Amino acid sequence: MESQVNDSIKTTIHVSALHAFAYCQRLFYLEEVEQLHTQNASVFAGRRLHTELEKQEDEDWEDLFLESEELGLRGRMDALRTLDGQTIPYEHKRGRCCRDNQKQPQAWESDRLQILAYAYLIESALGITVTEGRIRYHADNVLIHVPLDDAGRATAKAAIQAAQQLRQSPYRPPVTENERLCVHCSLAPVCLPEEARLSHNREWQPICLFPLDDDRQVIHILEPGTVVGRTGEQIKITRRGQPVETVAAQQIAQLVLHSFSQISTQALYFCVENDIGVHFVSGGGRYLGSFDSRQGSIQRRICQYAALSNSEFCLQLARQLVQCRGE
Ligand code: SF4
Repeated sequence: MESQVNDSIKTTIHVSALHAFAYCQRLFYLEEVEQLHTQNASVFAGRRLHTELEKQEDEDWEDLFLESEELGLRGRMDALRTLDGQTIPYEHKRGRCCRDNQKQPQAWESDRLQILAYAYLIESALGITVTEGRIRYHADNVLIHVPLDDAGRATAKAAIQAAQQLRQSPYRPPVTENERLCVHCSLAPVCLPEEARLSHNREWQPICLFPLDDDRQVIHILEPGTVVGRTGEQIKITRRGQPVETVAAQQIAQLVLHSFSQISTQALYFCVENDIGVHFVSGGGRYLGSFDSRQGSIQRRICQYAALSNSEFCLQLARQLVQCRGE
């Protein structure tokens, strides 16, 4: 019985994979065939939205996992609602909708295919008629109605067949011609699309998909009684009995205030505007807290926590900190 279920899961395609297929065939192949999965900030933000929606209690809503071997499709709907006797699948998107030439809101092509596939899957698995699916784009607070007609069913069916065919192929598809899709793609660090484009075309001007190394300074304020303020577009550092020092915001990555130094509210606002992290460390070298508005990468946080649970590494770090303070 279990092997039957597993076999059917192998032959059916998940609706979310169909969404990837419509977005970029290489993305579909990397995830579905090569089983490569990565997460970026957008993926986590999308999951957070779904978790928040799940917490909202509404008796009309239910989520549902369905599978249709006849259609070759399976999937779990974000939400299913029954309105005036009609069953309607809903899909929630964190971002913005697409706009046509008249600036009217539209669904993105991959989202449209996804909701059509869900609607068609309900028809096939439950034997009922579904007339439409709906997509809510939360950033625009827009609800798009996508009718399921014969043309919609044909679109979904053709995409399922094409995706199943690609799944059999031993060849990874080329990178998408629309390089703007790569900017938002969670698989970019694995796919390396700009490197692939450059290897085929030496004249290609690659776009930067990953943040550059931060070569701005980390400034440690060690002297008690130092006051950090703002003057124009600069950070002003006033140490007791010393000339005032000013540093341009563009040159600072982090400000670390040790002991009893102070920072003004204006300087804190300025640091937020300029992506400068502000950190507080006690006179004894104990980390107290941070004021940091930047979005950190999840991978970096994981590495930091892993490093801090390694006592050898912590000792080495402590030695370096003591050395720095002595110099
Ligand atoms: S990085 Fe670009 S080419 Fe590669 S899978 Fe993502 S969208 Fe496709």
